[in-house]
Amino acid sequence: MDYFVEPVRKTPVVNNVDVLVCGGGFAGVAAAVAAARNGASVMLIERYGFLGGLATGALVITTPPLNNGINREIARRLMDWQSYAPNRAKEDSTETEFIDGSDTLLPYDPETMKYEFVRMLLEARVEILFHSYIADTLCTDGHIDGVVIENKAGRSAVRAKFVIDATGDADVAAQSGAPVRTVERPITMMFNMADVDSARALEHLGKWTGLKKFMREAIAKGEIDFDLGVDPDFGAPGIFAADLIHKGQLNIWSGMLYSNQSLDPSQRTRAEIVSRDHAFRMAAFLKKNLPGFENARLEQMSTEVGIRATRNLVGEHTASKKEVVRGEFPDTVARPYLSKDLAVPYRSLLPKGIDNLLVAGRCISADDDIMGRLRLIPVCSATGEAAGVAAAMATAQGISAQAVDVGQLQAQLTEQGVEL
Ligand SMILES: Cc1cc2nc3c(=O)[nH]c(=O)nc-3n(C[C@H](O)[C@H](O)[C@H](O)COP(=O)(O)OP(=O)(O)OC[C@H]3O[C@@H](n4cnc5c(N)ncnc54)[C@H](O)[C@@H]3O)c2cc1C
Repeated sequence: MDYFVEPVRKTPVVNNVDVLVCGGGFAGVAAAVAAARNGASVMLIERYGFLGGLATGALVITTPPLNNGINREIARRLMDWQSYAPNRAKEDSTETEFIDGSDTLLPYDPETMKYEFVRMLLEARVEILFHSYIADTLCTDGHIDGVVIENKAGRSAVRAKFVIDATGDADVAAQSGAPVRTVERPITMMFNMADVDSARALEHLGKWTGLKKFMREAIAKGEIDFDLGVDPDFGAPGIFAADLIHKGQLNIWSGMLYSNQSLDPSQRTRAEIVSRDHAFRMAAFLKKNLPGFENARLEQMSTEVGIRATRNLVGEHTASKKEVVRGEFPDTVARPYLSKDLAVPYRSLLPKGIDNLLVAGRCISADDDIMGRLRLIPVCSATGEAAGVAAAMATAQGISAQAVDVGQLQAQLTEQGVEL
């Protein structure tokens, strides 16, 4: 390997806050709002120009019910715009198998989500910095002083008393030297089609699950060329949700790309190119060949390919499926659904060896066989909310993440509407 030795340079410190939230997906938004509402000065840094992460940018626009803690508020805000449809259960998805066979994945409108998330942060007086990539952390002797960011203004640093890693990829934990493990999951390019004559399409398909068969037969006959490494049971293209917020609008998953190393930029580039190509050709194929799609159009394609997982924290506790489902941790700080025994302990957010960092969202510390359920949207925000409250408590009391009194944290979460 060839190396370039960079000259030593002075990096300007552009901000100094109590709590720095890295990443603005569901987990980061919940964490920032919770920390700010509990009295901390908070900054949230996000590499894109909008909030929501996968849940907006990757067109993952169906979620299990948002019905506990901060999720309830998010649901209410979306419902005020008629942008969350609790009465519309989706027809078919791969992810339903992860939610106890329940069919309740509910569609929402991603543009309203982006808008309301910014409003929530501004109302809570969170400072937002968009278009800034967290490139490194300033971590010595198990303590993070801040992070280094890169943006159009160059390279700068933000100091913080406490950091929450909500990057989804455990970037901050990994950069700080906390134990993490890499994970491989299939990836998917989502897209929406509009102006579909659903009734006519359903006459032909029977039900929306029939689309999978329709596509599989076309692939077998060589009518459309697909080389994603499609798994017949799990990965074939299909309808993810039908008649979303608007009639005739479909959310389609274009298949699963396997064997992808998502932390490798060149593999990721290939994934973008290959899966966008497949999704585009699939939309054109449907328009040409499936009754009901004659006037349909490709309305929107995911901003980037949907990456389910890259790294997970190996924290103070790696929660097992049995424990999570039983939901009986002494330190439960997230219970995403009112109706389900599904719990996350504080120790799953707590890295080893760093005293002022918590991890929230799809990269917390748990076994692989339960992560499919723990990556779902309501869990990400529930863990974000818990991390935000804990971070505010730690900074107010001048204590480490390890020293947070979990009983006090649970009481505060309960006080603000989380049913633990
Ligand atoms: C194809 C697909 C289908 C899915 N289907 C469903 C479903 O139907 N229902 C469901 O509930 N869940 C589903 N999921 C899972 C769910 O969407 C995610 O697990 C969840 O949205 C993750 O939220 P998060 O906040 O933890 O992470 P993310 O949404 O990934 O947010 C992380 C944020 O951090 C930012 N960021 C990352 N690194 C940096 C950096 N270094 N510097 C600055 N910013 C950074 C990102 O831009 C992003 O905004 C699906 C996922 C995929 C990929």
